[in-house]
Amino acid sequence: MSLLAGSAVVTGGGSGIGRAIAEALAAGGAPVAVVDLLPEGARETVAAIGAAGGRAALVQADVSRWEDVDRAVAAAVRELGPLGILVNAAGILDGYAPADELTPAVWERVLAINLTGSFFACRRALAEMLPRGAGRIVNVASVAGLVGSGGGPAYTASKHGVVGLTRQLAITYAAQGVTVNAICPGVIATALRANSTRILGADAPVMRGVGGDDAAMRALTPAGRRGTLAEVAAAAAYLASAEAAYVTGHTLVIDGGWTAR
Ligand code: NAD
Repeated sequence: MSLLAGSAVVTGGGSGIGRAIAEALAAGGAPVAVVDLLPEGARETVAAIGAAGGRAALVQADVSRWEDVDRAVAAAVRELGPLGILVNAAGILDGYAPADELTPAVWERVLAINLTGSFFACRRALAEMLPRGAGRIVNVASVAGLVGSGGGPAYTASKHGVVGLTRQLAITYAAQGVTVNAICPGVIATALRANSTRILGADAPVMRGVGGDDAAMRALTPAGRRGTLAEVAAAAAYLASAEAAYVTGHTLVIDGGWTAR
């Protein structure tokens, strides 16, 4: 399997799933722009890719701001060459706050990052990919993009939105060489709750949810364990490969059977 030729942009590449995907794409030969709001983690990802013999560049950006996304993709193309792959992994959790407790500020920030941020990055990447007639977009949705119980209403609505965005873009651009797919992880051990608390600041709700609760994780997951970063990264790398040219609009679950029930 070989990655589609070109550079890659990975939003949220400074931690967890985004970092694992950035490292996998770099190992597959793609120069990778690691785009993240929090620069410390992004610096570590860039260093790890360099230490493994790959090529990476850091771009600090907030994906919920169009100017930042525009600047980030432009910098990636300038420094690393024509864009082949976009992975939207930047995201935050709503702490599973129920609707009657969820503040308007948290609703707006979760939707702005998870959904609007994904749209902004897709839109900007398409401007690079469509003239070349080739591209791979992988949106990191979630099981919360397919069913309830994987988050609170803001997170669940945002991830259902990402799945809808993925399907619509896939249809629109299917004949132009650009595939658009989503991956839907179940429970993966990352710093999502800590990073979400930090990014939401004073607005942050208590971070409840399946991720920090072994019994709840086992109750929802037939496999009885969390998924690994490597398992998620391999799925994303497949969707970014040249061989996946006929796969578009797909939602690939990596969830230990959660949504098979
Ligand atoms: P993480 O916190 O380890 O990584 C998310 C990264 O996104 C962080 O580096 C964070 O700084 C960055 N980020 C957040 N807001 C940003 C913004 N506005 N602009 C740029 N960067 C921003 O968490 P993770 O679990 O690796 O999450 C990655 C993606 O996977 C998210 O979209 C998350 O919703 C999704 N996901 C996670 C799980 C899980 O169990 N961990 C399951 C399903 C889906």
